[in-house]
Amino acid sequence: MALSITIWNEGLHEKTSPAVAAHYPDGIHAVLAEALGSLEDVRIRTATLEDPDCGLPPEVLDDTDVLLWWGHMAHGRVPDETAARVDDAVLRGMGFLVLHSGHMAKPFVRLMGTSCTLTWRDDDRERLWTILPAHPIAQGIPEQFEIPMEEMYGEPFDIPEPDETVFLGWFAGGEVFRSGCVFRRGRGRVFYFQPGHETYPIYHHPHVRQILRNAVRYLAPTAPRRKEPLACPNAPAPEKRD
Ligand code: ZN
Repeated sequence: MALSITIWNEGLHEKTSPAVAAHYPDGIHAVLAEALGSLEDVRIRTATLEDPDCGLPPEVLDDTDVLLWWGHMAHGRVPDETAARVDDAVLRGMGFLVLHSGHMAKPFVRLMGTSCTLTWRDDDRERLWTILPAHPIAQGIPEQFEIPMEEMYGEPFDIPEPDETVFLGWFAGGEVFRSGCVFRRGRGRVFYFQPGHETYPIYHHPHVRQILRNAVRYLAPTAPRRKEPLACPNAPAPEKRD
């Protein structure tokens, strides 16, 4: 069965900033969809904040294998109920790819259980280092490559210790950042990927697009999704006891 991908984008910067619209005239979600479009056997839908129910009603999440998330200026407008629904889907097996300023998105912060804060400043040259070259998300990606201009995100990044740190970002000002981190949550997997500031053509970059394609494949559920939330059942002992 085809892999079902839902791309969620807040979709606001594109409407108010000509600099953003220049790179993403149809929205960041449209360029992400284009980047993933070369994957075989996938179905891609997009959703934005202004869609009814944020475009993420239960029937959409139930039909999503991997959810991408780009948000920045309106994290607070995502209802708690929607964030809880996303987290429940992850715990039951959905993959979750959180992009750039999505580090402060409600469902990501809830899944991490920490503040997810970081340091940031104006824009600079970034060099992305592949520090787990054998990882599935790093396939086809060189040992390091340059992003000419990107918003600086630096440590300390208040996340739990990642299960895997695939990429490390270095900025020309001297800062470093854990730019590509995998977390297992319940039966699902989460990948946070830092590059993606809205005023630069980051999602047009060929290596970035390859990383997104790799990540979607990696995050895809490996077993059928649980239908019910995880629970604490009273379970009989598997061994017979006297
Ligand atoms: Zn940004």
